[in-house]
Amino acid sequence: MTAAALSNPPLRQGLRSRRWLLWGALLALVLMLLGVLVFLATQYEQSRDQVALERDAVTVTSDMRAALVRNVQTLQSLHSVAPTPDSWPGSAAELLAQHRELVRLEWRGIDLQVLVHRDSAYLPDLLGQLDRAQALPDVRQACGNAQRIAGPSFSPSYFWPMRGGQGLELMEMCLPLVRSGVPAGFLVATYSLPGILSELTQKDLLRDRGLAFTEPDGTRLALHSSVAGSRRTLVASSLLNLPGHTLMLRLESPRAVRGLFPNVLTAVVGALTLALLAVLGLLARDMRLRQRAELEVADALAFRQAMENSLVTGLRARDMDSRVTYVNPAFCQMVGFSAEQLIGTGLPAPWWPPELVDEYQQRQAVRLAGQALPREGWESVFQRSDGTRFPVLIIEAPLIDAHGTQTGYMSAILDLTEQRRVEELNRASQDRLQATARLATVGEMASLLSHELNQPLAAIASYATGTLNLLEGPVGELPQSDLQLAMRRIGEQAERAGRVIKSVADFVRRREPVREAVPPHSLLDAIAPLLGLQAKKLGIRVQTDIAPGLPAVLCDRTMVEQVLLNLARNGMQAMPEGDPSTASGLRVLTLALQQSRLSAGQEAGEPPRKAWVEFTVTDHGQGLSEDVRDKLFTPFFTTKSEGMGLGLSLCRTVIEQHGGALTFEPAHPRGTVFRFTLPTG
Ligand code: ADP
Repeated sequence: MTAAALSNPPLRQGLRSRRWLLWGALLALVLMLLGVLVFLATQYEQSRDQVALERDAVTVTSDMRAALVRNVQTLQSLHSVAPTPDSWPGSAAELLAQHRELVRLEWRGIDLQVLVHRDSAYLPDLLGQLDRAQALPDVRQACGNAQRIAGPSFSPSYFWPMRGGQGLELMEMCLPLVRSGVPAGFLVATYSLPGILSELTQKDLLRDRGLAFTEPDGTRLALHSSVAGSRRTLVASSLLNLPGHTLMLRLESPRAVRGLFPNVLTAVVGALTLALLAVLGLLARDMRLRQRAELEVADALAFRQAMENSLVTGLRARDMDSRVTYVNPAFCQMVGFSAEQLIGTGLPAPWWPPELVDEYQQRQAVRLAGQALPREGWESVFQRSDGTRFPVLIIEAPLIDAHGTQTGYMSAILDLTEQRRVEELNRASQDRLQATARLATVGEMASLLSHELNQPLAAIASYATGTLNLLEGPVGELPQSDLQLAMRRIGEQAERAGRVIKSVADFVRRREPVREAVPPHSLLDAIAPLLGLQAKKLGIRVQTDIAPGLPAVLCDRTMVEQVLLNLARNGMQAMPEGDPSTASGLRVLTLALQQSRLSAGQEAGEPPRKAWVEFTVTDHGQGLSEDVRDKLFTPFFTTKSEGMGLGLSLCRTVIEQHGGALTFEPAHPRGTVFRFTLPTG
């Protein structure tokens, strides 16, 4: 999933609800599966119980049938043991005592008349309520049937009321008797159905169960036991097929109460399902955490992307093989290539100007050799896709991954075009300002110049007049030596005038700034003529104080000369005629040169410091008021009617460009000292 998709709120909402729906469906399915499993297992258990019950019912009926067949044999043997009506009752009583299911035995003749009978000792009052004749139809039916099939036959069961509202369900069994091949009557045995149920069944099969004979429609005929309570029961029926009659046996069993999980298998599957649910729950939690982390990452990514897009600094990442792995939009805009065009490109880079490829390759090799990267970066020139060049500042740092291994380099690239343009503009306007200031100085000096030039010109004129006078004499008497002298003087004066003009021209001429090693005193010498002119006009004494053995200073001579001239001129203007300093004889301007205290106080053993030469210009004028002090270096601040107010601000710029500093302080006993330093070469 993309970061953009994740950071879209409606889409996020949609995804979240769909995820919940899926989880809900999964949970419902698992629960349904578990329910079906428990239901099927319960059903299976019940059907197993049912099958077992039915099997037991069949066992019970077959037991009964076997017992009844055995009884037939026992009854047949009764006649062989007691063949006469006298001996019969004794044997019959014995038999009745052994078989409680039998309630009465009768020996009947061919005409069904009772010859002899015996009642069970357990039910002595059997005929207390009703006469035995009431049962005759059943006896007749059974015996008729028995005669027909020549074997034992049963009658349908019937209810025999007894005293006290009691009663019994009875059933007749008739067995034809044959003696010496001749029918000798019937043996009628009256069975009690409850007796059959209690006597002819295995007790262990009936534990906790209900056993009864029923009609086919479910009406109960005889009950041996019933299931306690009103719990739901399982029911199995089985037919007891007897010759002449069929009875229906009903076996009931309480339905086993089962736990939630009816057997081990279901319990295991249930437990596994629950465990599965728990795992799913954990998985869901894990997924939720992961999604939250993904969202946070997506947010962070979106934030990073917005930040990168808003940057004007170009960003570029390279792997250890110098292949570009990442560029931001600002970098693409700088070099005029799209990110697709740049990513994957190696060396030489598409933005390298062809003529600089060799140099850049070397630089790259140095970097790859593991040398420390300069924190302040380095300047370089790049080429845009349209072939134009532009200066850049590159700051590079190693890219370290999460394992602490360096995977490449990340570079921040600043386009210096605009900065360079502003610098150039500044420099040009600075140059123009300085030229203007120089011209202004020249303008101020124009009157001094005319005065200074006047002298040599007047001298030249008078020498010329003298020469002309000499030439007016007779040709042969021309004083050769005087003429030569006059011409030499004219030449000298012309040279002097030329020097004055040249000193001004030198000063005004605009030159390219050059740094050269200049002996400090030569700077004073250069301005001395111009300074002399002004000093002479103002009646000020100029004094120089030069410490011996000073090293050469590294400077642009024209500029420093202008600084000196400016400071000296300001100093002289601060001591006008009539100034109190006149009285004290202090109208002196001192220009001094000495080793700067910055470098002079160096202790032995200290690392060598840069040496500086200090220039001081001291006047004893009115000094600086507090107000003037604050605005001294503000361009166009002046207290003079003809002043421009540019001198000091330019002086400071020039000195600072040389790496030095321009300061001022009060002079002793009055006036001001301006002090500046220049580095030695
Ligand atoms: P300008 O000389 O054209 O006025 P500057 O920048 O050289 O411009 O000087 C600015 C002002 O600083 C001057 O007008 C003057 O008031 C004051 N100033 C400069 N140097 C001195 C000095 N040595 N003594 C007293 N005031 C001075």
